[in-house]
Amino acid sequence: VIEIGTPERSVITTCAYCGVGCSFKAELSGDQLVRMVPWKHGKANRGHSCVKGRFAYGYAMHQDRILSPMIRDRITDPWREVSWEEAMSFAARRMRGLQEQYGKNSIGVITSSRCTNEETYLVQKLTRAVFGNNNTDTCARVCHSPTGYGLGQTFGTSAGTQDFDSVEHTDVVVVIGANPTDGHPVFASRLKKRLRAGAKLIVIDPRRIDLVRSAHVSAAHHLALRPGTNVAVVSAMAHVIVTEGLAAEEYIRERCDWEEYLAYSDFIRDPRHSPEATEMLTGVPAAELRAAARAFATGGNGAIYYGLGVTEHSQGSTTVMGIANLAMLTGNVGRKGVGVNPLRGQNNVQGSCDMGSFPHELPGYRHVKGAEVRAIFEQAWGVEIDPEPGLRIPNMLDAAVMGTFKGLYCQGEDILQSDPDTKHVAAGLAAMECVIVHDLFLNETANYAHVFLPGSSFLEKDGTFTNAERRINRVRRVMAPKNGYEDWEVTQLLANAMGANWRYTHPSQIMAEIALTTPSFAGVTYEVLEEKGSVQWPCNEAHPDGTPLMHVDGFVRGKGRFIVTEYVATDEKTGPRFPLLLTTGRILSQYNVGAQTRRTENVAWHDEDVLEIHPHDAEVRGLKDRDWVRLASRAGETSLRAKVTDRVSPGVVYTTFHHPDTQANVITTDFSDWATNCPEFKVTAVQVSQSNGP
Ligand code: SF4
Repeated sequence: VIEIGTPERSVITTCAYCGVGCSFKAELSGDQLVRMVPWKHGKANRGHSCVKGRFAYGYAMHQDRILSPMIRDRITDPWREVSWEEAMSFAARRMRGLQEQYGKNSIGVITSSRCTNEETYLVQKLTRAVFGNNNTDTCARVCHSPTGYGLGQTFGTSAGTQDFDSVEHTDVVVVIGANPTDGHPVFASRLKKRLRAGAKLIVIDPRRIDLVRSAHVSAAHHLALRPGTNVAVVSAMAHVIVTEGLAAEEYIRERCDWEEYLAYSDFIRDPRHSPEATEMLTGVPAAELRAAARAFATGGNGAIYYGLGVTEHSQGSTTVMGIANLAMLTGNVGRKGVGVNPLRGQNNVQGSCDMGSFPHELPGYRHVKGAEVRAIFEQAWGVEIDPEPGLRIPNMLDAAVMGTFKGLYCQGEDILQSDPDTKHVAAGLAAMECVIVHDLFLNETANYAHVFLPGSSFLEKDGTFTNAERRINRVRRVMAPKNGYEDWEVTQLLANAMGANWRYTHPSQIMAEIALTTPSFAGVTYEVLEEKGSVQWPCNEAHPDGTPLMHVDGFVRGKGRFIVTEYVATDEKTGPRFPLLLTTGRILSQYNVGAQTRRTENVAWHDEDVLEIHPHDAEVRGLKDRDWVRLASRAGETSLRAKVTDRVSPGVVYTTFHHPDTQANVITTDFSDWATNCPEFKVTAVQVSQSNGP
């Protein structure tokens, strides 16, 4: 007799939270999941984990899960439970009807970086092969799309250059716009271990994040910049390196486009980029900035890790290119211990981008305008692909408000809570005639949906996730899908209801198609993943064991490309009405909009969003710790409690966005990155005042 709670068997799978991609042993008793044990052979985590992966899986069994499809004619009608067949027929009829009435480009898809590679591949295939347009976008639009643009332009591909192990060979670590302790805890532990062993740390962040406090004080530089001035700070560091003769010219001559370097070096030498000239703008004392630049250029192996504090700005792509410039300038790309590494927020941001979920790119970051690339997919899919890039998420919402975009399939993404300017998102959704939400729970976006398709959790599916170091990890089915279908099967049902004839019976067949059409995945099969545990792309004939370090013998694009990075101030300005700058982020125990973690015991560690405010700013407003405050911007207002702390600088306030009651994105604006439309979540001019509560 096996008692409940005694593990009887286990399945190795991958955490579905952050981009570290920890491997876990899911231990079961009968069909009950007893516990998640970090797997010691997991190459990304080596037996370690954080409180999310270890404990926050109960949402998969939560009573709020919706297990039957539902439909309704109008969003004011009550939901009606129906069979899968009826739901698909309703959805297909509406979507095809919209295309007939308003044109083929009137519908589209938003997919999620929470989904597997195979699911994402199928969703973009649905858009291109069945809808007949390129209106497919991903939640990476609102996080790492500038990484795609910036690293693509400078290095030739959109991916971190290193594996996590590489940090053990780093002498100077730059962390910019990231808070690994909360966002990427297992990697943060490795980083701290390296810092304890003597590596120097440079943190560029408006907040005094945990890493600053835990690093040895004499080895840490904290450049507490004013939100929105990343480009100026990175350029000032480059200015010091070039004008003080610290640039790695031999490396640059050999590895980079020399003419472009000369143009960049002329640009960056200009005194307007000096730390002294930019001190007033950035708020970073010139002496501190010079010291940090010298430490990075002369301290040995230098590696840069960055997060959404870099990308979610009107100059997100410019900062990514500035970071790449800095790494090339100091010869810090192409060997162990160095490199440029975006810390991907969600479990499969890397994979979601790899799989062609952007409206301009087919899988493998190949532009949809390329006839040769289209031909590969046209042959594999037996259809003609539209050469015109489709709509990005904000364009879809704008077009919906204008009346030209009418139908949306939204998979695993709660755009009403996660995207900026909630009022505008709601207006866009309300203007659509068919919104299909495919999710575990009736989320906020589902308030505007006509069709609800129940999703499956990571415990109920087979597939792969690709982590921040390009490592393709297997996700294995731990239990049968509670709704009867894995998510890729639901997409297939919808495609077939709309006239396709897809016959996949297992995600391994989808991976085989990915390998066939995408050179960097050509050597990836489920058999290879079983044998090796995981592989890092590119994995193909040239690299059968995968590629832990990129750009070793040369950049993917050939010569590394320096790009001039002019600082342009955001249009979001402080003033008498809105004198403070709000920036946002997340906390260790919770995850993004909280749809999962709030339905687990982790909520005990963080049951509300609070507003961090500096003691000086609190005092002039008569605020005490735990007081209710009104937080208002040009876009909207909300109420939450104050946390008085010197973690934030004077003039800066900070909050998380885990709780729908707070609706932090009611506050954020629709300003966005010039190249990719990634929203400017990290800079909003606000006012804070006393309030009586919500
Ligand atoms: Fe690992 Fe990230 Fe999951 Fe934590 S949330 S267990 S660090 S993958």
